[in-house]
Amino acid sequence: MKVHGTFIPKKNLASPQDMKIYIDEKKCTGCGACRAACPKGPRIYFIEEKDGRAVAVVKDPSWCLGCRLCVSVCMEDAITLEN
Ligand code: SF4
Ligand code: SF4
Repeated sequence: MKVHGTFIPKKNLASPQDMKIYIDEKKCTGCGACRAACPKGPRIYFIEEKDGRAVAVVKDPSWCLGCRLCVSVCMEDAITLEN
């Protein structure tokens, strides 16, 4: 499969519903780069205001493909993926 022009071997992709996505809200600036880069971004990532500041919120990780693009674009190193 190709994600943003990068070939990702199918064996490296997570099965649906087995990825856990954690956002470190102390590091997150709410920039939205994760949502923009993720092939399923509008289904997974939402930018919301919490305690007066914008942060990324994961709504439905079952769409995650395990491609790790979100991790690679996050300048704040705020995203952790686990499966
Ligand atoms: S890319 Fe990182 S800092 Fe930007 S909204 Fe996503 S988690 Fe937050
Ligand atoms: S690893 Fe990140 S960029 Fe890739 S599908 Fe999952 S949430 Fe989206």
